[in-house]
Amino acid sequence: MKKPDIWFNGEFVPYEEANIHVLSHVVHYGSSVFEGIRCYNTDEGSAIFRLEEHMKRLVDSAKVHRMETQYSVDELCDAVVDTVERSGMESCYIRPVTFRGMGPMGVNPLQNKVETFIAVWEWGTYLGDEALEEGVDVEVANWNRMAPNTLPAMAKAGGNYLNASLVKMNALKNGMHEGIMLNTNGYLAEGSGENLFIVRDGEIYTAPVGLSILPGITRDSIITLAREKGYSIEEKMVPREALYIADELFFTGTAAEVTPIRSVDHYTVGDGVRGEITEDLQSAYFDIVHNGNDPHDWLTFVDVE
Ligand code: PMP
Repeated sequence: MKKPDIWFNGEFVPYEEANIHVLSHVVHYGSSVFEGIRCYNTDEGSAIFRLEEHMKRLVDSAKVHRMETQYSVDELCDAVVDTVERSGMESCYIRPVTFRGMGPMGVNPLQNKVETFIAVWEWGTYLGDEALEEGVDVEVANWNRMAPNTLPAMAKAGGNYLNASLVKMNALKNGMHEGIMLNTNGYLAEGSGENLFIVRDGEIYTAPVGLSILPGITRDSIITLAREKGYSIEEKMVPREALYIADELFFTGTAAEVTPIRSVDHYTVGDGVRGEITEDLQSAYFDIVHNGNDPHDWLTFVDVE
């Protein structure tokens, strides 16, 4: 099958021709900001989940890193819709990236051209096919999430993912699916590409934004759904040992969706199976993205015929 065209600085280019120069600033210094978004094939048609929130986060990430994007949130949303529709894919993962391109060599990026592209591809479950039902095995990472005054965690920037990749590689080498990072004060932060939720005695906890986590859009969705269902959910600093005595743990993320955690550092979480609250919130999420029930107006329907 033909690979989908890539939207590159306002125009569509064939997949094979969407290239950049080796001397682009981003290649040397990791100067990109990006998003990951899913388009679901819902019962009501293909729909992009929380498109506007994702594009707002992209523009915010760019602003933090002083990248002058030439596109507004609305223009970027339209560009994503066009890219998905042109691909003809009923469901896909969407990756918009804004980066520093060519210019004078050196750390100073201010003279380097800011460029944007949007690519789409097929992506199934992120943490393995059985993960959504059976859960994943994780470890506490021996790399911390970067301190708030080291790199801005609220910006979803390419360079931040060197930290995340170290965590992910170690986890895989240790036979785990994922690693959980602590912040520099030793409290629970997040996974290498997911936010973390802890359930204990019927109450739900997650790390507050501002303590070295990405403000996840799935995290926000799950907080909203949990409150609507009447659960008590608190954003607070949680110590590491809470993992070992939790009744349930789960990850949230665009790629990971709502994935139960069945063990941490070889401690079994609860009964070692997907917990009741995890399952309840997971099905509320899937009701939106699979069944197309959309009371929050989180879906942008697209025409991929
Ligand atoms: N934390 C990190 C470090 C991530 O990379 C992601 C994935 N974007 C998340 C959390 C979850 O964010 P979201 O729900 O917006 O995908």
